[in-house]
Amino acid sequence: MNRVIRGIVIKEQPSGEKGKLLYVLTQNEGVLTVTATGARTISASYLKSAQLFAYSDLTVYDKNKHLTLTEAKLTESFYDLRKDVAVFALASYMSELSLQSAVPADDGILRLLLNCLYALSRKLADTDTVKAVFEYRLCLALGLAPDFSCCAICGEAGDRFDFEESAFFCGECAPNPESCFRLDEGAAGALNYLNSCPAGKILSFGIKGDSKRCFCDFCEKYLITASDLRPASLDFYKKIIKDT
Ligand SMILES: [Zn+2]
Repeated sequence: MNRVIRGIVIKEQPSGEKGKLLYVLTQNEGVLTVTATGARTISASYLKSAQLFAYSDLTVYDKNKHLTLTEAKLTESFYDLRKDVAVFALASYMSELSLQSAVPADDGILRLLLNCLYALSRKLADTDTVKAVFEYRLCLALGLAPDFSCCAICGEAGDRFDFEESAFFCGECAPNPESCFRLDEGAAGALNYLNSCPAGKILSFGIKGDSKRCFCDFCEKYLITASDLRPASLDFYKKIIKDT
């Protein structure tokens, strides 16, 4: 049976002599693996859609859940992501996280990834901010929901997050004030904004200087601490950023 799936290639590996196995993050079915026979030959009609980060409508032949690509209509290649090594490393990192966390019947992670890749490819935001926003919104998509509006105990303005308690406190109420992560007003404000902003507005806020560093450090630490995700490509991204 032939059917059409809409999705983005988030991982590819060689398969057979000239083919590829594509890991496609789809709209409604989580991640599907699709065999693209001959995708490593220049004459393949679906060549552009069988590339990493290509977003397409893929016509697949489905035989007992074994999917073979027969035709493709490319929507967006995100080819520009390959032109900058730091951008490419970040796109790969976000793809790996998507692969580890996507679930069927929820397109939240697909939309998050597409929005972030679009921002990177059009240079609408810098890599550090895109990375942090992706990490934090992914945590929200996984069901985590920290509140940064005020201290969890007294309701006054908070300034530190306790990872053990997974709660935001002021200096007076924090049970372990020394081990808390200090969040300045700008960083806490950005996190609060991300808690409720629509999917299409995730990069529509301004943050810079120390607040931005604080925000970015927090988002990475929160992802690693609060979720079970352990992306191997994070170290690669950090090495690239350090070397460039
Ligand atoms: Zn308090």
